[in-house]
Amino acid sequence: MLTTPLYTRHLSDFFHKPITPLPPPAPQIIALNETLAHDLGLDVAWLHSPAGIAFLSQGLLPTPSPQSPVATAYAGHQFGQFVPSLGDGRAALIADCQDQNGTMMELQIKGSGRTPFSRGGDGKNTLGPALREYIVSEAMHALNIPTTRALAVLTTGETIERNSGPVPGALIVRVARSHIRVGSFQYAAAHGGLERVRDVADFTIQRLFPHLAEEDGPTRYYNLLKLVIQKHAALTARWMEVGFIHGVMNTDNCALSGETLDYGPCAFMDRFDPMKHFSFIDKDGRYAYGRQPALALWNLSRLAECLFPLFDEDEHRAIEQAQEALHEFDHLFHHNWLSGFRRKLGLEKQDEHDIRLLEHLLETMHTGQADFTNIFRMLSSTSVAVEGHYHDVRDLFPTNKGHFDLCRTELLHRLTLEERSPKARQEAMQATNPRIIPRNHQIENALSQALKGDYQPFHRLHEALKTPFAEADDALTVTPSPEEEVRYTFCGT
Ligand code: AMP
Ligand code: MG
Ligand code: MG
Repeated sequence: MLTTPLYTRHLSDFFHKPITPLPPPAPQIIALNETLAHDLGLDVAWLHSPAGIAFLSQGLLPTPSPQSPVATAYAGHQFGQFVPSLGDGRAALIADCQDQNGTMMELQIKGSGRTPFSRGGDGKNTLGPALREYIVSEAMHALNIPTTRALAVLTTGETIERNSGPVPGALIVRVARSHIRVGSFQYAAAHGGLERVRDVADFTIQRLFPHLAEEDGPTRYYNLLKLVIQKHAALTARWMEVGFIHGVMNTDNCALSGETLDYGPCAFMDRFDPMKHFSFIDKDGRYAYGRQPALALWNLSRLAECLFPLFDEDEHRAIEQAQEALHEFDHLFHHNWLSGFRRKLGLEKQDEHDIRLLEHLLETMHTGQADFTNIFRMLSSTSVAVEGHYHDVRDLFPTNKGHFDLCRTELLHRLTLEERSPKARQEAMQATNPRIIPRNHQIENALSQALKGDYQPFHRLHEALKTPFAEADDALTVTPSPEEEVRYTFCGT
């Protein structure tokens, strides 16, 4: 059932501003996530009706409410620089909705017009970035990675001016456990002081970690920090396991829920490269693949700076506690990373040399310019994992087959420590190493067709990415040719 967001009922207007999304001239549904709609208990026929479209495009609830949608306030460190007031410049929080599991979800429209936080922006979204967010966030969900979801993309009937020229206006309706970010706490600390930090912390606990509400004040807030650290250690490790590069890990894009948030310049890498980054504005590679764990910790440290005064009246002791919680991150990340990559190699046992084995394999991929996804998938194939035909993987190392031979020897030696059958190992590996990821060149191809009015390639790609681990006979595992390779991604303008 759709209700006005708890966010507006439980947090004072310090944290949000009312907005009225204007009706778009000719809203039209381009993509509707029927599975997600069903999970949310939303009737698909209703969503297609004029009332449903008014909901998806303007946030008009089926039962009229005196409360309008809101733009939420937040601050944020953008590329390390603190900006005290950011907020939703082009998003409207429209509703809460309880899903079939009883979990309350938030619905937000992105691109519904200017808000009090828009600064110089037009508050709009365009078709390419909206479809891109739809494809990539749903692909992340299918890869079992915590993420905001995409319920719908609609074109608005408007033409929007961008640097690249006129483009179709669009909206995406996204669904999240919560849109509270580290930047929400920074906003509270910067403009309202400790009492406002306590407000947003209490709301976050109520929304995401209700069991903490039973603990006394100081412990509750300390455990909130610890839980968020755990979630991000796990999330960042999951990104690393699939070669995902978020691209804009600013504190305003770091969700307390541990969901991947803000699909702007994100991308999956093809060839393995620890310093790979795509975002056009990330000139120095601050948010490169291999830097993501360090940046997650950096963001969590900003959260800790807001929260620690709630831990203890004694400032010294409070800081010590925050540091203790932050120190755990490296250990937690490492643990998640190692177990995730062991799973990728099908290893059940733990051996002290596993790190070296993995680092050697990744280094060999790097120097050999090998495709990250295809190598792990090929290692999971029957011919390699069961029949031992390692030449199939060897062929995927274009320039350093000899180095791979050393890795293979190490891997075969390591497999002698394992007890499960090669067949069982192979099946487990196939369930963890995706056959397909949303590759940049394939997304670009689907989007350019969509911009010409042909949505079939978009729907086909999205459909295939729903079952990324299944075998299928398609061309989606093909890596980009040099001409197809996407060098830059953009912040979703
Ligand atoms: P992001 O880099 O996507 O996290 O966005 C940073 C800030 O810019 C947020 O406050 C956004 O709401 C705002 N923003 C991005 N694009 C627009 C736009 N077209 N109009 C208004 N605000 C925008
Ligand atoms: Mg953002
Ligand atoms: Mg963005």
